[in-house]
Amino acid sequence: SIPLGYFGGIGAASRNGILFKGSNYLDVMASVKNVVMDKTGTLTRGVFAVQEVILQNGFNAEELLPMVNALEGKSTHPVATAIREYLGEKALPLEVTDAEEIAGHGLRGRVQGKDLLVGNFRLLEKFSIPFDTAAADIPLTVVAIAVDGRYAGLITIADEIKEDAKAAVSALSAMQINTVMLSGDKSSVVKYVAEKLGLKEAYGDLLPEDKVNKVKTIKAEKGSVAFVGDGVNDAPVIALSDAGIAMGGLGSDAAIETADIVIQNDQPSRIPMAVRIGKATKQIVW
Ligand code: ADP
Ligand code: MG
Repeated sequence: SIPLGYFGGIGAASRNGILFKGSNYLDVMASVKNVVMDKTGTLTRGVFAVQEVILQNGFNAEELLPMVNALEGKSTHPVATAIREYLGEKALPLEVTDAEEIAGHGLRGRVQGKDLLVGNFRLLEKFSIPFDTAAADIPLTVVAIAVDGRYAGLITIADEIKEDAKAAVSALSAMQINTVMLSGDKSSVVKYVAEKLGLKEAYGDLLPEDKVNKVKTIKAEKGSVAFVGDGVNDAPVIALSDAGIAMGGLGSDAAIETADIVIQNDQPSRIPMAVRIGKATKQIVW
């Protein structure tokens, strides 16, 4: 039979918006060695706002932006939502064919008889399209555009760090837990956020499968892992972690279903709280 203390722990957690799907995860959290977190939607709000549109090579905004908007209509990624919100009103309903979302990269498709690519610089590299590297170092997320194999310019977008993210990282560090951030976003953005939050380790430019490999390495070298994520792409990493945690508010159904623990209000400070509740429960049980 399950010791009574576990019910106390699960109850205390749920009153704080932390849903444990099994009492064993209280134990896992009580002694967890590494908390590995996704960036977008987990440590940052996941709500991007467009900063600037910079077109090059003679491409014109009136013609190109409605095409970009139409292609982004095929994606539910937070980046796509930001672009649509910014361009949406100006856009005509253009037809998109052969649209394909390429995980960790962006989108390709045909609009107005032209081959369109909208995504990060890695997407352009994949299609061997030369681009202006000047924007690689700025701490903003970049949405690059290419038309018929030619670089057409970029849109810079920015996200905000969640209010309690820094306190959450400090609280975990104070409990001697290693904190790691993994992201598909570009390295300059990842470095900027990591420094602001005081994270011990941070890695950018990762594809979904790279995140899986990183978590495997951390587990093998440094012990148990709790992974916290929100996106569709996070489900495989959530599944292989000792405790998979999903941000429940804005999180994808796949992430929430796969998770062992769900944080309902998306606040990073609930992660150290889950550890504290795990530790307190253990003291009562043993
Ligand atoms: P993360 O959640 O860590 O940012 P993802 O794998 O979801 O990782 O995305 C990685 C990157 O791919 C994004 O930062 C963005 O640059 C690019 N990307 C993904 N989807 C889109 C999209 N629909 N439009 C433009 N860029 C995208
Ligand atoms: Mg994400």
